[in-house]
Amino acid sequence: MATIPHSRSPFLHGQWTAADAAALYGIPDWGKGYVGVNPLGNVTVMPTKDAAHQIDLAEVVGGLRERGIHTPVLLRFNDILVHRLREIRTAFDLAMSEHAYTGGYSCVYPIKVNQQRHVCEQVARLAVDLGFGLEAGSKPELLAVLGLSAMAGGPGVNGMPIICNGFKDDEFIETVTLATKLGRNIIPVVEKFSELELIVKHAKAYNVRPRIGIRAKLSSRGAGRWETSAGVRSKFGLFVSEVLQAVEYLRKHDMLDCLNLLHCHVGSQLYDIRVLKNAINELTHIYCELRKQGAGLSMLDIGGGMGVDYDGSQSAFPSSINYTVAEYASDVVYRIKSVCDSAGVPHPQILSESGRAMVAYSSVLVIDVLGTSRFDSTPDIAAIEAALKAEPEQPQPILDLLGAFSGMTDRNFAICHKVLERAARKGELPEELESLPELLSDIYFCNFSLFQSMPDSWAIDQLFPICPIHRLNERPTRVGILSDITCDSDGKIDHFVDKRIDKKTLELHEVRPAQGAEADGVVGVEPYYLGVFLLGAYQEILGDLHNLLGDTHAVHISLSPEGGWEIDEVIEGDTVEEVLSYVQYDVDDLKNAMRKDIEAACRQGRITFPEGKSLLKYYDDGLEGYTYLEG
Ligand SMILES: *Cc1c(COP(=O)(O)O)cnc(C)c1O
Repeated sequence: MATIPHSRSPFLHGQWTAADAAALYGIPDWGKGYVGVNPLGNVTVMPTKDAAHQIDLAEVVGGLRERGIHTPVLLRFNDILVHRLREIRTAFDLAMSEHAYTGGYSCVYPIKVNQQRHVCEQVARLAVDLGFGLEAGSKPELLAVLGLSAMAGGPGVNGMPIICNGFKDDEFIETVTLATKLGRNIIPVVEKFSELELIVKHAKAYNVRPRIGIRAKLSSRGAGRWETSAGVRSKFGLFVSEVLQAVEYLRKHDMLDCLNLLHCHVGSQLYDIRVLKNAINELTHIYCELRKQGAGLSMLDIGGGMGVDYDGSQSAFPSSINYTVAEYASDVVYRIKSVCDSAGVPHPQILSESGRAMVAYSSVLVIDVLGTSRFDSTPDIAAIEAALKAEPEQPQPILDLLGAFSGMTDRNFAICHKVLERAARKGELPEELESLPELLSDIYFCNFSLFQSMPDSWAIDQLFPICPIHRLNERPTRVGILSDITCDSDGKIDHFVDKRIDKKTLELHEVRPAQGAEADGVVGVEPYYLGVFLLGAYQEILGDLHNLLGDTHAVHISLSPEGGWEIDEVIEGDTVEEVLSYVQYDVDDLKNAMRKDIEAACRQGRITFPEGKSLLKYYDDGLEGYTYLEG
C-alpha cells in the first residue's frame, strides 16, 4: 500500500514555511549539510557546511541571467570538492588514531569519474597537501594523469601515488617504466599475467626498479549493480593461484621486493558495508600470506565503491548507503588492522580509489520549466452524450461510466484529486488507487536532456535529488513528473528520492504566466527553476548527444573572501555548430545548401525575399547558438 507521509503532505492546510519545504524534499537528509533553504525560500549551497557561508542558488541563476548565461547550467562548487576531500582525510586520520593504526592512508582519485580539467587540477593540487593520489584506467587517462601531476608541481609530486588500472599494452608499460625513471611514484596494477612479463621486460631494459601492484580476484562477491567487478567471474585480476605464480616469477627475476601493492575493486556505490568488510578481510589475508612469502608489499588498495546517500535514507538500498564516511574509514582500518595484527604483519598503507564519494556533491544542474501539461481540463460531456445517443443500445458499463462522468462538474473537476486529498489526510491509499497520483500528475516540461546531463537516471535508474530552488516558502500545490526536451519518451523523470517510499511524483509549484503579455498576445511562463543535485560523479562524461543536445554551460562558483559568492569561470556549452561537427557535418556546406534552396524559393515566388532573409538569419544564428532553448 502506497503511503503519503502525513506530516509532509502539501495538501494539508495551515502555515507553510521554508522549513516545511526542506522537510518535504528531504533536503537535510541528502544535502548532508551542503544544501539548505534560506528564509527567502531559496535553496542555498553551503560549500563548507557552515551556515555563515551560504550561496543562494536563485541569486546565482539571476546573476548569470543578467550576464546572458541561461539555464540549463551546471554549477560546480570547488569549495565543496575541497571540503569533501578534507572530510575523507579527517575520517581516516581519526580512524587510524582511534585504532592505533600505523600504516597511513591515501585516497587516489580515479579520473574516469569526472575527467574535467578543472576538477582534476583541483584534486591534483590538493593531493599534494593531503597525501592523496590519482588513478588512470586507460592510455588517455594515463597521459592526462602524468601531465596533471607535472602541473601540480612542487616537491610533493613525486610522492603522490599514481595507480594504473585497466588493460595495458607494451607501450603503456614502457611509458610507466620511463615515468618511474622520471621519479614518479607510479604503480601499474597487474590485471593479467602477461602484463607482469611486460613490466619485468621494460624494467630490465631501462634498468629501473618498478613498483608493482597486483589485482586479486576474490572469492567474496561484490553486490548490487556492479557485483561482477569482484568474484571469480570478474573481468580483471589474478586468481589466487596466479598471484602465487606471479610471486614465483618475480622471485626468479629477483624482483620480489618490487611487488609493493595488492589491489581489489568490489564495485561502485557499495550500499551495504558488509560486502566491503568481507572483501577486505579476504584481501588482507592474502596480503599477509604474500608478505610471509617474501613479497615487498607495503600498500593495500581497496579500490573504489565508497557510496553516496543520494536519497538521504541512510539504508542498504541502491540509491543510498548504510554507513557514513567516518564509519567506512573506521571499518576499513579496523578490519585491516585486526587481520595484520593476528598475522604479525606490519600495517600497510591503505589506499582507496573513492571517486564517486570525492566528487558527487560538487555539481548541481539548474533547469527551467518551459510549461506544463495537466490532466484537469473539463471533459466535453455534451459531445460525448450526443455521440452515445446516436447509438441507442449501450452496454450497462458504458452507461454507468457516463453517469459518473456527467456527475462531474466544473466545481468538483477532479473527484480523484479529492480522493487523493482525503487519502493524504488518512496517510495511505487503498491498493486500487495506488497509481492514481501518477495518473493525475502534471507533466512539467524542462529545458534539459536527461541523456546529456543525468545519463544514469536513464541507464540504471539512478535517483538524484531534485527540488525547486526558489518559492519554497510557498506551498507547492501541484504534483508532477518531469519531461526533458528530447523527443525520446524515455526522456522523463518519474522516480524521486524519498526516505520511505518509492516516490513517483514530485510536489511542485503552479507555473505562473509571465508578467505582461507580449505584443502578439502569447504569454510565456514566469521562470521556475529546479535544481538537480549530486551530479558530480560519472554524469558529465557519460552524457551523450541524443537529439544533438550538447554540453550545458558550466559555471564555477566559489565563496568570495569578501563574503558572498563569485564566478570563477564560465565554460560555455556546445553550440549547434559544434555538435554538428562532432557528427562530421560541414557547417559551411549546410549553410550554402540552405542559401541556394532559399534563393530558388524566392525566385519562384514561394517565399518573399524578406522572408528568405529572415529564414537564413535564423539558420545562421541558430548554428552559432546554444543547443538548448534560450529564454
Ligand atoms: C570505477 C573504478 C573506481 C571508482 O569507483 P567509485 O565507485 O567511483 O569509488 C575505482 N577503482 C577502479 C578499479 C574502478 O574501475
